[in-house]
Amino acid sequence: MSKKVYFKTFGCRTNQYDTQIMINKLKEFSLTFNEEEADIVVVNSCTVTNGADSSVRGYINSIGRKNSNAKVIVAGCGAHSKGKELLDKGQVFGVMGHSEKENINSILKNESSFYQIGDLEHIDNTVVSEFIGKSRAFIKVQEGCDFRCSYCIIPYVRGNARSLPISQILEQIKKLASNGFGEFILTGTNVGSYGKDIGLNIAKLIKEISKVRGVRRIRIGSLEPIQITDEFLELLDEPFMAKHLHIALQHTADKMLMYMNRRNSYKSDLELFEKIASKGYALGTDFIVGHPGESGELWQEAIDRIKELPLTHIHAFTYSKRDNTPSAKIKEQVNGKIAKERHKELTQLIKEKNYQFRLKNNKNLTILIESQKDGLYRGYDEFYNNILVKSNSDLTHNWILVDEAKVERDSNYATY
Ligand code: SF4
Repeated sequence: MSKKVYFKTFGCRTNQYDTQIMINKLKEFSLTFNEEEADIVVVNSCTVTNGADSSVRGYINSIGRKNSNAKVIVAGCGAHSKGKELLDKGQVFGVMGHSEKENINSILKNESSFYQIGDLEHIDNTVVSEFIGKSRAFIKVQEGCDFRCSYCIIPYVRGNARSLPISQILEQIKKLASNGFGEFILTGTNVGSYGKDIGLNIAKLIKEISKVRGVRRIRIGSLEPIQITDEFLELLDEPFMAKHLHIALQHTADKMLMYMNRRNSYKSDLELFEKIASKGYALGTDFIVGHPGESGELWQEAIDRIKELPLTHIHAFTYSKRDNTPSAKIKEQVNGKIAKERHKELTQLIKEKNYQFRLKNNKNLTILIESQKDGLYRGYDEFYNNILVKSNSDLTHNWILVDEAKVERDSNYATY
């Protein structure tokens, strides 16, 4: 009987994809969803903050209690930052690095303890896709990052940016489009850097994808301001572009951007956002609240600027310390309670901005219905705003056109 493998995944979407790759490559082993009956437990770990490290460590210890016969193998980002230590202390049986995922079948056959960390230049041969229902698909197009933001450990555990060959991506999209997928979301560690290493860029990739029959809408997980070139801006009038862009600013006070070793600055960010918003786009961003050095004065400057920016969506994160990053060494840390208050102030401000945007953009919406709950269908419009639709027909996974949505503070509503 083949040995049973249980996968435990921590962290971001990329890690979820990586687990999928490992599962697909298990040939002589079977998969189990019960960790207590597993012969091998593969922990696909995350190391983004100190907290993430301790969750992984806690989980590994819990396996020792629940199923002491299982061999524990650590994979993922934590293999690169903490793998050696875990192995030396005898807390895991083996360590495998990112580049080793596709060799998992032979790695799991190891009879003795191993440390197979590989390199950080490898790019997987498999194009991974994640599906939301039968209509939207996430496609991972690149791996790694060339930036060195002060708070981030990712480049040290995932390596520099490298891209999947365009032919492989297009092949996958063609397959999915012919199976009825209409919306594609491009993802990766730093998606906007797609193509830099192979003489291409994200705009060229999008143009090629748009030519595939059946592709209706393209979204990009996240972009950096400096990645938005004139060639990219020209795409904004194309009908296949979702009318929402997520552009990571991380902060709006210039001194904070300097502490964070970011490559953007507020003046050019504002110009860029105004240009894109004038084309009718909704705009989202990432923002780190409470990063070391964020004094009351700098916070005030940042929030005043947020008011100025045409923002409609936000992913606000409260800073969390990561040892071995430059940010962890900055002395002026922000008190947790203050960071929490700032987080709230920021998210409420964007909620209001989003509501104002929806009041003006509630007509002729193109919705892709994703799910249904309590008699209401839920989907997103082209501006990435949520809508709940009442209907007597079965709308699941359908594209629908809504003439006019009713705008409430919590969501848009419509009857179809
Ligand atoms: S852009 Fe900055 S925050 Fe994002 S992965 Fe790269 S280094 Fe980390």
